[in-house]
Amino acid sequence: MSSQVSGPVVLVINAGSSSVKYQLVDPRTGEAHAKGLIERIGLDDAVLHHTAGGTAYERTLEVPDHATAIELATRAFAEHGPHLAEVDLVAVGHRVVHGGDDFADPVLITPEVVAAVERLVPLAPLHNPGNLQGIAATREAFPDLPQVAVFDTAFHQSMPAAASTYAVPQVWRTEHRVRRYGFHGTSHAYVSRRVADLLGRDPGDVSCIVLHLGNGASAAAIQGGRSVDTSMGLTPLEGLVMGTRPGDVDPGLAAHLGRVAGMSLDDVDRALSKESGLLGLTGSADFRSVMERRAEGDEAAVVAFEVVVHRLLRYVGGYAAVLGRLDAIAFTAGVGENDAELRAAVLDRLAGFGVVLDAAANASVEGETRITTADSAVAAFVVPTNEEWEIARQSAALVATL
Ligand code: ADP
Repeated sequence: MSSQVSGPVVLVINAGSSSVKYQLVDPRTGEAHAKGLIERIGLDDAVLHHTAGGTAYERTLEVPDHATAIELATRAFAEHGPHLAEVDLVAVGHRVVHGGDDFADPVLITPEVVAAVERLVPLAPLHNPGNLQGIAATREAFPDLPQVAVFDTAFHQSMPAAASTYAVPQVWRTEHRVRRYGFHGTSHAYVSRRVADLLGRDPGDVSCIVLHLGNGASAAAIQGGRSVDTSMGLTPLEGLVMGTRPGDVDPGLAAHLGRVAGMSLDDVDRALSKESGLLGLTGSADFRSVMERRAEGDEAAVVAFEVVVHRLLRYVGGYAAVLGRLDAIAFTAGVGENDAELRAAVLDRLAGFGVVLDAAANASVEGETRITTADSAVAAFVVPTNEEWEIARQSAALVATL
């Protein structure tokens, strides 16, 4: 099996607090030679999935910690291929959620980088600790391989102060690092580059809006290959309506709920992270099931769809003004790639911006697809995101400079 893998490969790791996802990716083509997932780490019935050469393997076993997870993944590669000792593994690329304003680019992981990611835990308490556990386990398993951190926030470090600054007291901004960081940067970077390619233009000459619509959702305004604004902020709560998060709300709501319902800040924070968004509006966090209920005339689902579309329009219109010129809009991630009705609802309302939807193309999307007519002043595309390829590409590029 390993004989089929030629050229350099990167092992891409996305570690959470109780799961590790991995892919062995060719950084030049994006081909995934193998992928896997270990979930329920810490429990005695953890599950390992490994797919290679078109065949999927699954095992239930005890996985006490991340180090064991990486060891088992390495064993899965040895048993089912490709054997990691027999491929040209040039780097391990880690997805790290929060790089604060310390990291605007991918970075070779050193003890100083680990310490910086630890210092950022208060900004990403649900994500950075799992990322760090994955890094520690992988460094132990592959001590001689360069390990690269690719941050979800890095692409948005190019935002100007006008977009990244909250109008809040100075001490919050200076002492407590309160500012807008943005997330999904790896996806926005990848999709915006693909948009330039699809337009046949240099990324430096393209102004576009990327709508990453998955369980988490964010919009980004990208000018000349650089993020100039994005809808998530200090945390991934801000911006668009998501599966379980509300996006923009009045910041006065926490104090109000404290007064009228006796809720603590932690109660409010939890409800905003886990019980809001589509879940709060309809009882389901899953966009597809909301759309099914909407088709049956369910009133809550009808309203939820309208709220989602309205919020998207506010961001697209606002970003068109920020950009000054709009060449393209791109839809990506689970909802953006799959829901033709949502895309049509947004694009039809943008006729005043020169958007002319190609309804037939929108209804039969396959891979990267243009969904506006040839004479549409603003092009719209569906671009399947590929964060693993982007992490592999950035990791290999960094390692090549060492
Ligand atoms: P994550 O942020 O977890 O990576 P995804 O990008 O996988 O999320 O997106 C998950 C969302 O995509 C879910 O709300 C799901 O309902 C939605 N989705 C997936 N397939 C479809 C589809 N065919 N039509 C509409 N929504 C879909």
